[in-house]
Formats: sequence, C-alpha cells, structure tokens
Amino acid sequence: MQQNIDSYDFNGKRAIVRVDFNVPLNDKFEITDDTRIRRAMPTLKKVLAGGGSVIIMSHLGRPKKVEDKFSLRHIVDHVSECLGVPVQFADDCQKAQAQAAALKPGEALLLENLRFYAEEEGKPRGLAEDASDDEKKAAKAAVKASQKEFVKTLASYADCYINDAFGTAHRAHGSTALIASYFPDDKMFGYLMEGEIKAIDNVLKNAQHPFTAIIGGSKVSSKLAVLENMLEKVDNLIIGGGMGYTFVKAQGGRIGNSLHEDELIPQALEILAKAEEKGVNIYLSKQTLVADEFSNEARTQLVPSSEIPDGWEGMDAGPESLAVWKDVILSSKTVLWNGPVGVFEMSAFANGTLTIARDLAEATGKGAYTLVGGGDSVAAVTRMGFADKVSYVSTGGGAMLEALEGKDLPGIAAVRE
Ligand code: AMP
Repeated sequence: MQQNIDSYDFNGKRAIVRVDFNVPLNDKFEITDDTRIRRAMPTLKKVLAGGGSVIIMSHLGRPKKVEDKFSLRHIVDHVSECLGVPVQFADDCQKAQAQAAALKPGEALLLENLRFYAEEEGKPRGLAEDASDDEKKAAKAAVKASQKEFVKTLASYADCYINDAFGTAHRAHGSTALIASYFPDDKMFGYLMEGEIKAIDNVLKNAQHPFTAIIGGSKVSSKLAVLENMLEKVDNLIIGGGMGYTFVKAQGGRIGNSLHEDELIPQALEILAKAEEKGVNIYLSKQTLVADEFSNEARTQLVPSSEIPDGWEGMDAGPESLAVWKDVILSSKTVLWNGPVGVFEMSAFANGTLTIARDLAEATGKGAYTLVGGGDSVAAVTRMGFADKVSYVSTGGGAMLEALEGKDLPGIAAVRE
C-alpha cells in the first residue's frame, strides 16, 4: 500500500530516495543550474527531521560506461551545502551495503551514478553494430535477468522507498519503478513528485474553464499526441513555434522556407477538423516575424503567417498574434504552456516566447491556474524572473509531455500499484 510522506514514521528508518540530480555541469564540473537539487531538498530534509537517514540515488547524463565526467562525486559538496549535513558518497551504487548499514539517524549517503550500470535502464550496452537479431535478443534477456539482482541490491539498503524524481517518472527503470515492489507497504512519493502530480491533475482532471493550452516547439511530430489529448480537455488551443507552419501550409498558406513537416499535413488537418467538431478554438499565429536566414543577425520583416515570401522563414510570432493570444490567455481560468513560440535562443526572435511568459504571470495574478512545463518554456519563465509568478513550474520535460499525452507514467504507477 502506498504511504504518505507526511504521515510516515521515519524514526530510525533508512529511506532510499530516487531524486533527479541530473543537473548541467560546466567543463570544470561546476553546477550551472541547481534547480533540481534544491527542489528535492524538502523531501530529504523531512526524512532527516523525522529521525531517519537517507540513501540518495540518481543518474547524471547518459553514460554508456563508468566515466568520470558523469560521476555524481562532482556534486556531493553542493548537495551537502543544500541539505545542511555532510553527505557521504558511495563510489559504486552496488557496493554500498556497509555504508548504508552504518548510517545513523540524520545522516545522508549519495550513491554513484546509477547509469554506470546498464541494469538501471535495463538496456544492453556494447552490442556490435552488426549484431544479429538473435544476439540482440540474448543481450536484452541477459541484462533484464541481471537487472533483478541490481534492483534487489539497491532495495536491500533501506526500509522504505521514496520516489521524488519526476524528471525520470516516464522511464520504467530499476530505481524509478522496479524497486517499488520491494517495499509493498513502505513506498511513497516525495514532495516534488506530489507537487508535479497535483499540477498535472489540476490541468488534466480538475481544470477550471475556460482552459487554454499553448503548445509550441519545433515539430508537430513530437507533440502530436499532446495536441490530440489536449483537444479532449481544452476550450482554446494556441499552436505556436515552428510546428505552426505545418498547420498554415495544411490550410493552403505560403510558408516560404519555414520549418514544416509535409508528412504531418494529414494529421494537422485532422486536428483542425476535430477541433471544429468539438468546439475547441484553435489559434495559430496570424502574423509572423520572418528572417532571410536562420541567424540572429538576419534581415527581418513582419508578414501575415500565410503569406511568407519565398526565401524567408518564420522565426517568431508577430505582435498581432501576441495580442490575440494575450486576450485568450487573460480570459482563461486554467493555462498550460509547453514549448517556445519562436526561436527564442536568438535574442532577435525571443520576444514571442518571453511575452507568453509575461502573459502567464499576469493571468496568474488575476487568479488563473498556470502550469509551465518543458525545458524551453521553463527557461523562458525563469529568464523573465517569473518562475514564482506562475502557479507551477514543472521539473520534467519528457515526463511532463507524456503525462500531457494522457499516459500513465511508470514511476508514478509503481508507487500507486
Ligand atoms: P521542441 O524541442 O520541439 O520543444 O522545440 C523547441 C525548439 O523549437 C527550440 O529550440 C526553438 O528554437 C525551436 N523553434 C521554435 N520556433 C521555431 C521556428 N519558427 N523555426 C524553427 N525552430 C523553432
């Protein structure tokens, strides 16, 4: 049975906590953004304050073998500083039995990168490029078999399991999902995970209407399932960014050199038709800031999105689009935003995305519930200093997308089962 972190008695217990400390490091191994570390602190501190000890586990990057640049050793000091106690380090996550057993109440141990073992992801490594299907199958079976031992060893360190790693909740990995079965009556979500789940429920299950979703980004193909699921939920759907041009082209517009996916045109038309059927208002960008090359220094002009001249490409939403979108956003009671509405990495084309961030903050001030998810939108909100002026900023990119597609996330399901 699933437990609750607030009511669970941690006194004298060892908690193994899956966090997402997959933070960006510079070439001197300094942390350049410690948001994920800070957001896990309430959970870790709760266990320590309750008289328990914590065994912290995470992945860092995508190592294919043991590699110093992916070692969690680089972040131990910073985690100690944030937690307020010296954090011990186990330099092999599979050989931490003695260190875990020696933990006293109030103490913390960080395990080395779980992905130094292929068993964490349960995917074979080092297969020859020309491996036959049979060889691939055998390698997969072998890693799945040793994955059980890997997970059992991790589970043996602790009395209870807490999953606080929303960023990897969409992965059915050893530490994010499989381990939960070793703690049938002692498994729970941490505060960060609880917050993320509540935020998702606030938009997918309990949304106040009017509900507007703003979906941007480069490609329709990567957000198709999100768009389809959103049609079942929202009153207004704003489609921005590179993906918008596939829709404009589908409607017969001229899009010049703008990013688009011809093969997705049938799906785009289907989405438009379904929206009409369901009474969902679709707002594409009506005016576009176009450039004569994909560069911050390019020449630019504002044109209607369906009349982009040859040789020019759409780079950002124009002010007329932003004005329409702003009215929609400010008249909504729930707003979900995922994906930039322009090439916001270039200062010349960041205005649209930064304006959306500002509109969301304003809508929140007027009482709307606003959820921002996805790395780029989160970066925009943070850059504008609005992270605490929207209702919730998600820590999960891929996990948030899959949740918005309506999928059950394995990391969540394993604790609830
Ligand atoms: P995604 O990874 O699909 O969420 O898309 C994010 C990327 O979309 C960002 O890197 C943006 O620069 C890019 N993007 C947004 N609008 C455009 C556009 N009009 N043309 C090309 N790329 C875009």
